[in-house]
Amino acid sequence: MSINFKKIAKEFGTPVYIYDFNYMKEQYRSLKEAFEGQKSLITYAIKANSNLSVIANFAKEGSGADCVSIGEVKRALLAGVEPYKIMFSGVGKSYDELKEALELKILMVNVESQAELYLLEEVAKELGVEARVSIRVNPNVDPKTHPYISTGLHENKFGVDIDMAKRMYIYSKNSQNLDPVGIHFHIGSQLTNLEPIAEAAEIIADLVRSLKAIDIDIKFFDVGGGLGVRYSDEVLIKPKDYANAIKKAIKGLDLTIICEPGRYLTANGGYLLTKVLYEKQNGNKRFTIVDAAMNDLLRPSLYNAYHRIEVIDKDGELTETDIVGPICESGDFLGKNILMPELEGGDLLVVYSAGAYGFTMSSNYNTRPRVCEVAIEDGNTRVIRRRETFEDLIEQEKLYLQN
Ligand SMILES: *Cc1c(COP(=O)(O)O)cnc(C)c1O
Repeated sequence: MSINFKKIAKEFGTPVYIYDFNYMKEQYRSLKEAFEGQKSLITYAIKANSNLSVIANFAKEGSGADCVSIGEVKRALLAGVEPYKIMFSGVGKSYDELKEALELKILMVNVESQAELYLLEEVAKELGVEARVSIRVNPNVDPKTHPYISTGLHENKFGVDIDMAKRMYIYSKNSQNLDPVGIHFHIGSQLTNLEPIAEAAEIIADLVRSLKAIDIDIKFFDVGGGLGVRYSDEVLIKPKDYANAIKKAIKGLDLTIICEPGRYLTANGGYLLTKVLYEKQNGNKRFTIVDAAMNDLLRPSLYNAYHRIEVIDKDGELTETDIVGPICESGDFLGKNILMPELEGGDLLVVYSAGAYGFTMSSNYNTRPRVCEVAIEDGNTRVIRRRETFEDLIEQEKLYLQN
C-alpha cells in the first residue's frame, strides 16, 4: 500500500506514528492459516503495541492476548479480547495482580517460579477457585539473537528449569486450588533460525509426554512469540515451516498450540513520520536533526537496532549523515551513517518497521509530549491516540506544587 505521508504530516502534524491495520490483519491471517488443521490460538503479545485500537483490530480477527501486567490484561479486555483467550505472563506478578487476574477469569496464569506458584495457590484458596496455570519452562537453548532479547537460556531470568517444572506440575496436580493445563516456553525475540525453536519444542514436548505418564494432562502447548521480521535484509522463518516444526514436535499429543507473536504482527505495519529541523556539520561529521527522538523510538539507542529511514520526495547526491533527535543525550539517534541527499528544515523522513516496541517504549523524557498515533484502514486514516499536551504531562504533579 502506498501511504500519502505528506498529507498525513499536514493533517496530524509530526512526529506521528502511522499503523497500517490491513497489513497487520494480513500478518495475523498468515500465521493463523499456517496452523490450519491443528487446534491453535494466537495470543497477540500486546506489549509490542498496546494501543487499544490496535488490539481491537486483532481481537476482531479472533485473536487472544498475551499480557505481562494486569494493566495489559485490562487493556485487552477493554479492546474486546475474550477473557478465555487471555494469558498472563511475567516474572514478577504481584499478589494484587494475581488476585485480579483470577477474578477476571482469564484463560491462565503463566507461572515463572515456585514462589509465584505458592502465592497463586494462596490467592486462589482465598477466592475459593481453582487457578488454571501454565508453567514457563526454560529449555536452555540458544536462540542466536541479541543478548538483550534472548530469554531461553539458564542465565536469563525467565522461567524454571525442567526438573523444577516437573516438581511444580506435581505440586499443582495435588493442589485443590491449582489446575495445571498449560506449558510454555519463549526463547527470545527477532528469531530468524528455526532450529532453536524446533529444538525447544522437542524438549518441551518430551516433558509433556513424561507428565502424561504420571497422569498430568497438559492441554495448551504455548510456544511463545519471537518470530523475526525484516528490518533490513534478514532471511525470515516461513510461518508454514514454523508451524510444521511445532506440529512435528507434538506428534501424537492432543494439544492446542498457543503462539504469542508481537513484532511479527505489527512491526512492519508501523511507520514513524518525522520532520527535519536542521542540518549541521561538526568538522567532517554531518548531522540531520529531526523532531522525533529516542523518547519516541528507543530501539536504536537501547539495542543499537537498525531502522530503515527514507526521505520523501527529494533527490540529490547522497552522503552519510546521523539522524538525531533534540534530546540532550549523545545516545539520542534514530539512525547512524545513513545515506541522504542534502536536506533542509521541513523535509519529511519515514522511519520504517516502527509498529512494534515503538510507541509502547516511548516516554516523556525532556518533557516531550508523546506523539499522535493514527491508523490507516481500507484507505481511511483516523486518530487512535491524540498527541499529548503540556497539560497532560504536568497533571499528576501540579496539585502538589507548593509555591
Ligand atoms: C515479548 C514476549 C512475546 C512477544 O515477543 P515478539 O518478539 O514481539 O514476538 C511473547 N511472549 C512473551 C512471554 C514475551 O515476553
